[in-house]
This record gives sequence, C-alpha cells and structure tokens, in this order.
Amino acid sequence: MRGVELCWRTYRRYPRNPDWDHDHCEFCWAKFMVEDHPEVLHQGYCTLDDYRWICSECFSDFKEMFEWRVVRSSDDNV
Ligand SMILES: [Zn+2]
Repeated sequence: MRGVELCWRTYRRYPRNPDWDHDHCEFCWAKFMVEDHPEVLHQGYCTLDDYRWICSECFSDFKEMFEWRVVRSSDDNV
C-alpha cells in the first residue's frame, strides 16, 4: 500500500466482481456499501482499480506513514 495513488470516490461495486455488495476499509474494517444502511460509508479513498478502500479517518491517520498520493479520478465527475 505504500506510495500508491488513491482517489476520493463514491463507493461502487468492484467492476471485476459485481457479486460483491460491499467492501471494508483496509485499516479499521468500516463498511462501504452502495445501499443505504445504518453505519455504512458511501464515499472513501480507493486505489485506482477500485480494489482497496480506505475511510477518510484512516486516510488522515495513515497518509503520511504510507506516502499516499491523491489523484483526480479519471471517470468521476465529482
Ligand atoms: Zn478506516
């Protein structure tokens, strides 16, 4: 995870495995889902392939340690 590029994105299912309906933060295991449920996150930082997700809290806690770079997502118009 060190030095990877991350982008802020609304959660979506992993395109290569649409059967997954949720993901977890890599660090605190917070849950990301598309559907609305109590205590789930809908936005977070993800690797550019959508594979790994990190919540904003863990991002702030670990960004310096891991030297993450935040980039604009090419396919997100937010
Ligand atoms: Zn987290």
